[in-house]
Parts: sequence; structure tokens; C-alpha cells
Amino acid sequence: MPARTGQEYITGLKERPREVWIDGERVKDVTTHPALSNGVKSVAALYDMQHDPELREEMTYASPTTGQPVGLSFLVPEKIEDLERRRNMMARWAWASCGMMGRSPDFLNVIFTAWAGASEYFAQDRPEFKKNVTDYYEYIRENDLTLTHALLNLQRRRASASIDTLSDDVALTTVKETDAGVIVHGSRLLATLGPISDELAIYHAGNHRVDADGKRQSFCFSIPCDTPGLKFLCRESFDQGRSHFNHPLGSRFEEMDATIFFDNVLVPWERVFLLGSVELCNNIGSGTQSAAHSGHQVLTRCLVKAEFILGLADLIVETLGSGSNPHVQEHVAELITSRDMLNACLRASEADAAPNQYGVMSPAIAPLQAGRTLFGRSVYPRMVEIIQLLGTSSLMALPTEADFDTPVAADLDHYLATDTTGARDRAKLFHLAWDVSCSSFSGRQVLYERMFGGNPVRNAMTLFNNYDKEPFRQHVHEFLESDDEE
Ligand SMILES: Cc1cc2nc3c(=O)[nH]c(=O)nc-3n(C[C@H](O)[C@H](O)[C@H](O)COP(=O)(O)OP(=O)(O)OC[C@H]3O[C@@H](n4cnc5c(N)ncnc54)[C@H](O)[C@@H]3O)c2cc1C
Repeated sequence: MPARTGQEYITGLKERPREVWIDGERVKDVTTHPALSNGVKSVAALYDMQHDPELREEMTYASPTTGQPVGLSFLVPEKIEDLERRRNMMARWAWASCGMMGRSPDFLNVIFTAWAGASEYFAQDRPEFKKNVTDYYEYIRENDLTLTHALLNLQRRRASASIDTLSDDVALTTVKETDAGVIVHGSRLLATLGPISDELAIYHAGNHRVDADGKRQSFCFSIPCDTPGLKFLCRESFDQGRSHFNHPLGSRFEEMDATIFFDNVLVPWERVFLLGSVELCNNIGSGTQSAAHSGHQVLTRCLVKAEFILGLADLIVETLGSGSNPHVQEHVAELITSRDMLNACLRASEADAAPNQYGVMSPAIAPLQAGRTLFGRSVYPRMVEIIQLLGTSSLMALPTEADFDTPVAADLDHYLATDTTGARDRAKLFHLAWDVSCSSFSGRQVLYERMFGGNPVRNAMTLFNNYDKEPFRQHVHEFLESDDEE
């Protein structure tokens, strides 16, 4: 089957009902439930872009198996131009959600593509796992499936080192191996897009390592979301059923995060990619360089999001007529500098790209890590703060869409118009600014950018321990020694 349409994605979800719980209720159909349906529509719109006559060329490439168009995020990059082409496609998808949907399907597509390119990595565990990975990659590419992932085990207490404290009765754990496959039981965090995905991938995060005792918690596999025994528990929905005018982001881009419980779930052998090899599981991101490929997707989206916030800030300044104030200019200039820094990191990752040991052209990971670390730790939270500082009371003196159909509308039109903007357009703009900086949707966005790539403390520990600082130390030694010689 070639690249899917949005309707095909929706039909797929309907035909494969999964066990999803939200706010005390079992969801009958994720495509129609008010907490989830607008998110489904937004993902469907991404798939439809693949069939837009003006975009088809940019969004797809010819399947090596069938010659039919398939999603470009499945392209195994062989040259830098492939990375650039893929980045343009991913940016198109990111713009469709203003950078607000972190788990658009390209995120996991590039990871499985990197794994298929590095399939020998999996053969180190068992020879048949190599074929499992390449077959599965081909399966999701040809069926254009939507994947979610859950990398973390729940823990009853946090260790002081970068090794997770796992217990067999809480963490996702191998119960037994059978002729049909592996039975697993336990829990995992945190599947963004989980309830509205086709497939669930389970593997390790490089920053949540498992020690030698964790063989039974070490695996990499992927199963359909409707597999018996799988339960998705959603957080509260940030789609509050409001109009696009009143809640422009939450009413469109609710990608939902879910905790997953596994009740003796069977993972068929052909879906197992690693099993019991602690080190291969711990190092999957660096060993296959899939971390660089997902980082490329992440920073592409972060750049789009930064550009969106910059555009929003500039429109706020224009609407309020505040652009002659030095501190306002300073705030917008800070957004520009952040945007340019992210762009530089992204482009550097492509300029310094090189084939990995498996021959897959891989972006340089260092600039990607630098960009995404800064984005989550300080840049994005600060962007949200700047929108609050620029928007101030306009984020609260905010009529809803319905207010413009009441007798108070004349007052709104008179008092809320500015020199540049009518009251209604002002309200529309500031509802967007509110959804970026004040709403529950916006709070989750900040948390997401801070955390989805791993706890920043753990990431900093990894960087401190693994970064080659020696060349820089050497310069200091040389300087100190030259002092002695004088
Ligand atoms: C909105 C959102 C969406 C997400 N989506 C996904 C997803 O789709 N798939 C997925 O797999 N994951 C997802 N995650 C999970 C994300 O990867 C984790 O939140 C992140 O890795 C941090 O892990 P943790 O939440 O268990 O916190 P921990 O790392 O356990 O941290 C909890 C607290 O303990 C402290 N702490 C714990 N351990 C240490 C240590 N070793 N050293 C120092 N301090 C420590 C931390 O500083 C922190 O205060 C998502 C998270 C969020 C918030």
C-alpha cells in the first residue's frame, strides 16, 4: 500500500479498537471521543499532505519494493542531500501543528529507518533479529503506520546514579518465552500519541540505563496497540471542546500522553528485535545512531516552533503598538537569536554529517544535542515567558468568540481595537498567545520540551561523563607549561 491518506489512518484506528481509559471511562472509539478526536484529525491531515498534488513530490519517494510513493521519513539517507530533503519534509509536517505535536509520525519513522540501515546491530544479539528489524521497517513503511513509544519503567524510588531502580513487579518484565513469542508483564511510561497510534515500540532510553541484573527488563520490540492485555491510561485532555477561535492549539493538537499497563502481553517472535542483551539495549540509540536521526527530526520541529513563536511575538508587538520600546525590542531580539542558534545547530548537523559504520548518512549528533538541550532547558520556557511579558493584560482582557455576538460587542469593537488591529482580530491573536503561554495546553508544552528527551540532570551527567574534554584540557596544560618555560 502506498503512502496513506488521513481517512485510511482513521479507518485503521476504528478497525483496531484498543483499551484506552480516560477520566474513569473506557473509550469506545478514539476517533470520535471528544478528548482525542481533534488530535486524530490533525494526524490525519499530515497523511493527507502526502496526497496534496503540490506537496506529493516533497513528502514522498518511490518505494524500493513497489515503486509506489511512500513517506519520505522512511528514506534511508545515503547522502547529505537526502538529509536536507528529509528535513524539508519534516518541517512541512511540523508547520502543520506550529511545532506543537512532538510525536508526528516522522519521529519514530526515522528511528526505525536508522535501525533498518543498522540491522547488523540487532544480529549481534541473535541472527534472526536482523531480519525482524528489516521486515518490520518494510511493513511500517509500506503500510504507513503510526507509531508511539514508551521507554521508561515506573520506579518505586529513584536511584542516585543513572541506572534505574527496577523491580520485577513494577517494571515491564519478561515473564516467559514460548513458541509463539515472549510474554511481558508490567508498566511503561509515557506513550505520547499512544491511544491514537497503530503500533507501540518498546526499547531503552540511553539516559535511563538498566544494569546487569536487568536482563528481564531488556528488550526492543513493537506490537499493535490493540494487542490483548495492553491498557492505555490517559492524562486529562487539554482539548476542552472549545472553538478554534477560543482555544486555537488545544482544540487541534492534543497528542495525549498515556501510561501503559501490560497484562501478560504476547510479543510474537517476529516482532522481537533485542532480548536480554542489556548493553545492546542500553546503547541502541548511539550504537545504531538512531539518536542522531531522531535528534534531526526533533531539532527540525524545534526550529519551526521557535519561528512560530517569533512570528507570534512580532504580531503581538504590532497589535499593541509597543515596538518602539527598547525592552520590547530586546525581547524580540532574544527570540531572533534563539531561532538563529537553533537553525545553526540544525544546519551544522547536516554540514558535518557522515556515513555511520553501516553506511547510513547520519547527521552529526553534537550540534543536535546542543540545540535540543538548550531548547528544553532554557530557550522554550523563556520563549513562553517572553510571550507573557509582551502580551501582559491582553492575555486576560480577552473576549471569547461568543462575546462578539452579544450586546457587549459594540463595546468590544470600540474599546479593544488598537491603532493597527480590530477587536476581533486582536482577540483571535491573543487567544493564540494565551494557548502558547498560559493555558494547560501551554503548560504541558513546556513540560514536554523540558522532559521528553530525558531528565536534563541525567542528560547532563551523560554529557559530563562521555564528552571528550581532553583536547581542551590539553590547551590549558600547554598554556600553563609555556608559563613555566618563560
Ligand atoms: C509531556 C511528556 C511527554 C513524554 N512523552 C514520552 C514518550 O512519548 N515516550 C517516552 O518513552 N517517554 C516520554 N516522556 C517521558 C520522559 O522521557 C521522562 O519524563 C524523562 O525521561 C524523565 O524521566 P522521569 O519522568 O521518570 O523522571 P526522573 O528522571 O526519574 O526524575 C524524577 C526526579 O528525580 C530526580 N532524579 C531521578 N533520577 C535521578 C538521577 N539519576 N540523578 C539525578 N536526579 C535524578 C530528577 O531530577 C527529578 O526531579 C514524556 C514526558 C513528558 C513530561
